Amino acid sequence: MSNANGDKLIFIAGMGVAGSYLARRLRDNGFDVECHDPRRSDYYLPCGYATNRNLLRRALERVNMDPDGYIMSEADHVYLSSDRFEIEFGSSGLCTIDKKRMIEDMNSGIEVFPSKLIPEADSMTVDATGISRGLIGKSENDYSMIAKEYLCESGDHDDFYFHYFPEGRGYYWEFPLGNRWHIGAGSSDPKLIDQYLGNRKRILVTGRRIRLRPLFQESVAGNVIAVGEAAGCVSPITGEGIMPSLRSAECLFKAISGYDDIRKIRERYLSCLYSEMGYYYDLFNLLKKSQNGRLRDISNLKNINIVRKDLRDFGIRVSFARLLRNFL
Ligand SMILES: Cc1cc2nc3c(=O)[nH]c(=O)nc-3n(C[C@H](O)[C@H](O)[C@H](O)COP(=O)(O)OP(=O)(O)OC[C@H]3O[C@@H](n4cnc5c(N)ncnc54)[C@H](O)[C@@H]3O)c2cc1C
Repeated sequence: MSNANGDKLIFIAGMGVAGSYLARRLRDNGFDVECHDPRRSDYYLPCGYATNRNLLRRALERVNMDPDGYIMSEADHVYLSSDRFEIEFGSSGLCTIDKKRMIEDMNSGIEVFPSKLIPEADSMTVDATGISRGLIGKSENDYSMIAKEYLCESGDHDDFYFHYFPEGRGYYWEFPLGNRWHIGAGSSDPKLIDQYLGNRKRILVTGRRIRLRPLFQESVAGNVIAVGEAAGCVSPITGEGIMPSLRSAECLFKAISGYDDIRKIRERYLSCLYSEMGYYYDLFNLLKKSQNGRLRDISNLKNINIVRKDLRDFGIRVSFARLLRNFL
């Protein structure tokens, strides 16, 4: 489908980080986009806002934006802990960002209709609706946890802090955010979340479910293609979803700009997702094994490199030896 000028028209539902980046990338490259999101402008985005500054820079440069303007806090140290250990690592770029302003800037000059998108049968439509998979529909293979987060005046630690619950039952985090903190927990057990968050003083409470299973194969259906968390682009072991969403949106941008045929676009998109984040399937299996008490199986040793890669990509300078000693 094309607009009156003959530019190819792409419909996008959901203007979180994935939909906004894709819309901007497409529009800057001669495509027309029609974007929808019913989110209210004063809605507090449920997210820790932590990401890797160095990787974010590469993505934002493609849309002529500079990450430095969005940095709220940068990690000197990162603490990873469990009931068995607490280890201090260096940072490989971990920071928090003003995610809301970054998204608003991506959307500048792009009209966003404050409504849900009703898809048209013959048009290329992107489902960037995050956890809801509002257009592409639910998947039987889905897996998500509950996540709850407080915005606080202070934290209990002096830098970025993660605490893993036993048996892969989730984690607790504290991330500095300028002069405030994001303190949250994600788990399938709401009691565990409340136990860790406690009755601390907070400015506001937010939360939603977080998808932790890659759904790449279930991210294409006819003319609809899912990106970001709708496609399960979230690290199963850290809940990191900002950079993976941007990566998936870039994959879709490349597929759309390279091909006209929807079948070819789907094929190229999937192949890019698997080559960029296919290891999320192995990380998800590791999470399930840990939930079944099999984290220390010798067979998990082969996954140590992807665990290390995933944590480093998030911004935590973990070392092979300490991972081996403490986690597996
Ligand atoms: C509590 C919590 C903490 C997190 N912390 C981090 C973190 O520190 N770092 C990190 O990297 N990741 C974090 N994540 C994950 C990360 O926030 C997400 O994976 C990422 O933002 C997903 O981006 P997205 O654009 O795919 O979806 P979203 O950001 O969820 O955006 C989806 C958009 O779609 C809109 N929408 C929904 N339905 C429709 C519809 N039918 N039509 C049109 N629009 C619709 C919604 O209003 C929303 O704006 C966290 C998640 C949670 C829940």
